[in-house]
Amino acid sequence: MAEPQPIFIDFEGIDGSGKTTLSNRLAEYLKSQGIPVHHARDQGVFRSKVSRAIRELTRDPSFLGMSDVTEFLLYVARDAQMIDEYIRPKLKPGHVIFSDRYLYSALTQSHHGRGLDRQIVDHVLSMAAGGLWPDLVVYCDVDPLTSRVRKKLQKIREHRLGDFGRKGLMGIGFREQIRKGFLELAEENKGSWIVIDNARSTIEESLQRIFNRVSEVLRLKGYPAILDPHWANLEEAEKHKQTSSPLQVAVEKLLAMGEAKKRQEHSIKIFFDQIRAMVPGRSAYAALFISGFDIMEVHEIREELIEREPALIAHGLRGCVSEPSMNFRARLLEREPLYVAASLSGMAFHPRAIAMREQMAEIAPQQVALALRGNETDSAWVLRERLRKKAPNEVLISLQGIDSEPAWALREKRADKRTAIPALLISLGGIDSDRAWKIRVEHHEEYLPWVLMSLRGLQSDRSWEWRVRFLRCAPKIIVKTLGRSEDPRAWDLRDQAKYYAKEALDSASGIDSGKAWQLRHSLSDKWPNTCVSSLGAGNQSERAWNFRWDQLRKNPENLLLFKHIAKAAVRAQEAPGEEFIDDLDEDESDF
Ligand code: ADP
Repeated sequence: MAEPQPIFIDFEGIDGSGKTTLSNRLAEYLKSQGIPVHHARDQGVFRSKVSRAIRELTRDPSFLGMSDVTEFLLYVARDAQMIDEYIRPKLKPGHVIFSDRYLYSALTQSHHGRGLDRQIVDHVLSMAAGGLWPDLVVYCDVDPLTSRVRKKLQKIREHRLGDFGRKGLMGIGFREQIRKGFLELAEENKGSWIVIDNARSTIEESLQRIFNRVSEVLRLKGYPAILDPHWANLEEAEKHKQTSSPLQVAVEKLLAMGEAKKRQEHSIKIFFDQIRAMVPGRSAYAALFISGFDIMEVHEIREELIEREPALIAHGLRGCVSEPSMNFRARLLEREPLYVAASLSGMAFHPRAIAMREQMAEIAPQQVALALRGNETDSAWVLRERLRKKAPNEVLISLQGIDSEPAWALREKRADKRTAIPALLISLGGIDSDRAWKIRVEHHEEYLPWVLMSLRGLQSDRSWEWRVRFLRCAPKIIVKTLGRSEDPRAWDLRDQAKYYAKEALDSASGIDSGKAWQLRHSLSDKWPNTCVSSLGAGNQSERAWNFRWDQLRKNPENLLLFKHIAKAAVRAQEAPGEEFIDDLDEDESDF
């Protein structure tokens, strides 16, 4: 009998679409069935040292100034090396090669994303491929919001928040363009691409769909039949997809209710019913969605989740100041010191917060230092002194916005240490003096992202000039520096950045002017939940509520949108008070 032919299968999709998870699980299964599978990016790590090094180059956020062509050639170089060093040599009869991204990613990034000419791009790609194209491309399709929620969960659980790469600085709109590009390619190459809807499927359902197609390819290439893993019953899954979800049904009823107050009250009930239903099987999502709520009802859900999802529960205490929330912190203090300390950020005067920071200074010195950001109380200075040796960079960051002599004395002590420069720059956030600008100018070539972050809240002409100059390479950072500015220049920048960075909306959070409404209306089809969150939960006007209901009507299954509605409804029941302003630099508005 003739030997089975070699097979090359590539997994494509935006970041967080499931490529790593799905390709590795399938590779493991095929191996367990006796098929030699070589994964070119096993567990997300390239098998070539050169490709790994090139990836580091393309990810490094300090290379913000990288040109579109350079970026393209680096992506191609990365894959060209993988082809020569790993993929081609392994492509032998009877062997299967998996890759997690191939030249198609360079194509979508550089043509669909950056706008380079398709013909030229194709020409370079075919040179790099040297005729080697996959037998099958598994395109994992998810909307950018889903991928962001999943990545966020993963990062919180793995204590990896705060990592950021150059690509991420473009904003979520860029990912949407890339996704469109992939869908176009799938359409162009129907015969060799399979589109897996991995947003509205479980991992097992997606795996089963991929397996079905892959086993077909294996058969055609002469491999013996392999055992069906029976990961999921796809017929059931399809049927399930066709029926309205319980949330959709509840939303329809809700929107039929006439009286405004009743509708608001009922929306709180629906939201928490949804969350409770998630507790048994999808505890991580439940824990993520209750973040920031500080009411009894939610504390009860936290109680149920605390053992299973301690990291997410601790992380979600940010912005909570009640006694029960402090009790949760006290219970989680030893298990999740990082998030407990971080959740104390902004609580400069709360006596229990002060005591906890002192108590945690030894176990989580870095996070305790970070939680002192902008804090000028005496107790904060005592703590900084205590932490200075153990967490020097974080102490530096905690000086953000503080323009006093003691703060400058600390900055100057570390100004000549290379590893301290990003922290030094972040500490300049909000400071518009010549002294701060001298440092910005000195470091802007090497440390551009951090220099740009430090423009946060500045109003001088030079700060506006810099924002304009660097908008194109880092729209997300630039709009984050706008604070809630109503300066005409701020509106101009928001307008220019708005198709890429949903943070343009965050930066208008709570603003009720005509311009802010225009912005929301122009983006409501694209990012409905961010538009709603940008109203601010405290906005109880009729216009704001009508906008919330309209968005819900159009997006009855968007639970994140629903969360913002529930937040506003909870706020409607409380006495009017000061709006809690989320710290935009620290977190994204949705969680
Ligand atoms: P990529 O490699 O494309 O960046 P990953 O495989 O790392 O994506 O997946 C991102 C996150 O999404 C992981 O935490 C993974 O467990 C989760 N994930 C992937 N597919 C699904 C799915 N169908 N349902 C729920 N979570 C998923």
